[in-house]
Amino acid sequence: MADEAVRAVMLGAPGSGKGTQAELLADVLGVPAISTGAMLRQAVSAGNSLGERVKGTMASGALVDDALMSEVVRQRLDLDDAGRGFLLDGYPRTTQQAATLDSLLRERGRRLDAVVLLDVPESVLVKRAVARKREDDLEQVVRERLRVYREKTEPLVAHYAGRGLLRRINGDRDIRDVTASILRALKG
Ligand code: AMP
Repeated sequence: MADEAVRAVMLGAPGSGKGTQAELLADVLGVPAISTGAMLRQAVSAGNSLGERVKGTMASGALVDDALMSEVVRQRLDLDDAGRGFLLDGYPRTTQQAATLDSLLRERGRRLDAVVLLDVPESVLVKRAVARKREDDLEQVVRERLRVYREKTEPLVAHYAGRGLLRRINGDRDIRDVTASILRALKG
């Protein structure tokens, strides 16, 4: 299936499983899973200038500013492996970022094929996130990230639905069943 290029966005609250699904799908579809959160965490670990700029923001559960994220994503999409497709995990997260993504793709003569929304009840999200116990996953931070998701990112659901790109998937199921549903939705 490696010849089926796909350009998709994985949308969902923190703890919805979009990172896990992006990785699984990337293997099957032969395109990179691009996680902006993972890229930023890597920068923080490396202690480079990007890491220094985003460390505090990430620890609080707030969003890194759109201009800085545009730079990060633009550079990543220009790497060779993203040329024939990608699964974006954690970007876009604001309507401004969605507009940026559209122009980045337009400049390259590309467009989005689909936006996959992983639907998971709030109670399950909190349980999953607390169980993950990453450094930025303290319960207070988890709740803040959920609040930020509702306020800043959830509007993207209506935005992409209006453009006919949204594929809503029940994410509260066995991991492999979720992957299979997404694959069907991407082909449909
Ligand atoms: P994630 O692993 O996607 O949950 O991202 C972890 C943290 O990185 C978020 O809580 C934000 O602080 C930051 N981050 C990741 N992606 C973005 C983005 N697209 N826009 C702004 N901040 C982001």
